[in-house]
Amino acid sequence: MNQAMPLPKTAVTTAPSRAAEAPANTSKLLSVQEAQSRIMAQLCLMPAADIAIQHAMGRVCADNVLAKISHPPVPVSAMDGYACRSADVGTLPVRLRRIGTSRAGEHFDGELTAGACVRIFTGGAVPEGADVIAIQEDTTATGDEIEIREVAKVGQYIRRAGLDFAAGQICVEKGRVLTARDIGLLAASGHMRVPVRRQPRIAILSTGDELVAPGIVPGPDQIVSSNGAAIAAAVAGWGAVPIDLGIAPDRIEAIAAAVGQTGDADMLVTTGGASVGDHDLVQGSLTQRGFVSDFWRIAMRPGKPLMFGRLGDLPVLTMPGNPVSALVCALLFLRPALRTMLGLAPAVPAFEKALLGAAMPENDRREDYVRATLDTTGGGEPVAHPFPTQDSAMLMTLAKADALIRRVPFAKPTQPGDEVEIIRLDAAAGGF
Ligand code: AMP
Ligand code: MG
Repeated sequence: MNQAMPLPKTAVTTAPSRAAEAPANTSKLLSVQEAQSRIMAQLCLMPAADIAIQHAMGRVCADNVLAKISHPPVPVSAMDGYACRSADVGTLPVRLRRIGTSRAGEHFDGELTAGACVRIFTGGAVPEGADVIAIQEDTTATGDEIEIREVAKVGQYIRRAGLDFAAGQICVEKGRVLTARDIGLLAASGHMRVPVRRQPRIAILSTGDELVAPGIVPGPDQIVSSNGAAIAAAVAGWGAVPIDLGIAPDRIEAIAAAVGQTGDADMLVTTGGASVGDHDLVQGSLTQRGFVSDFWRIAMRPGKPLMFGRLGDLPVLTMPGNPVSALVCALLFLRPALRTMLGLAPAVPAFEKALLGAAMPENDRREDYVRATLDTTGGGEPVAHPFPTQDSAMLMTLAKADALIRRVPFAKPTQPGDEVEIIRLDAAAGGF
């Protein structure tokens, strides 16, 4: 290792004895669920901070927020018309004297007396003594004399004080991903700022000699790196902040140097070089910097060589390089990690039932995530059609897929019409 190279500030300088051990290349593969639990158990909830509501869209509310004020603050009319006393309108039609006006922004200053009414507009405060609204269409005004032909029931068209919400009521709950609607509600209830979870910062490093950055025309031995862009987009969509560490070539020193650039990141994610080939050097580079492996290799397809561990306090997730493997791993492991850090439940993706649109063979010991399109039966049930080719280098089929079919280890051969489990790749996956 290059001695002059600074260690990342979170790396342990005197690594515990396990740190030097590379994870054993045994045939024992962890289940997806076990790996998810082990990742989530290692992560801490992000701290909370108050931010301005205009920057809070999509952020996770860190505490119950109580309304500071009530809305409406006083009883107001929901219609244009006349505010009357029910005692005066028992027999209709009746003529009442208009003694003033109440409108949104300017209330009638006084009490409604016998035989009188107050012209009222939507949002105007209902005067003291009034308990019934005659809507404009049921009245005729001749100067200040108002003929009332019909009135609403007592209280109808009157929004009582606190009808929308009352001071002290919870308007946004802890753990809620803030929407534009919530931000309106926060403003209405007297809040300029809101406590939110700090967004986890996720450093993303792509590794591979063959990779060029997006925008560069690849040479004959090169391909464009798509993982960094895709994972950064996914991370941003899942409520975290991506930090682009770029591309490192397949050299231990180069990868170790890039890993040293994580700065104040809350997690490091790498792609490529995670397997056992001569050019798979991520594990070795991390180990040089004091990496402590928690687990390596998952009983899943795609994504088997996934590894998780720590560089000092920094959680590290190393994912395979094939674009489909990297993105399926991001969905199954990185997203739950981010949701755990943000305090969002459920952290792991939800499965749904669908009918299978084509036969599938028996599965082996690895849990299989199969790209599929979805349509529906006449009865509205989702039907999953697996793509015939599932090569994990084929990003196009992942981009066009609506769902992943999950096939448990050793699943029996399945026929069209059989029930299967799917994860949708759209809204449920957070725009993945
Ligand atoms: P590796 O995991 O490094 O063995 O890479 C497996 C395959 O994924 C190889 O064909 C790589 O060229 C490809 N690959 C690795 N990293 C990326 C990346 N960032 N973007 C696109 N493809 C990649
Ligand atoms: Mg590689």
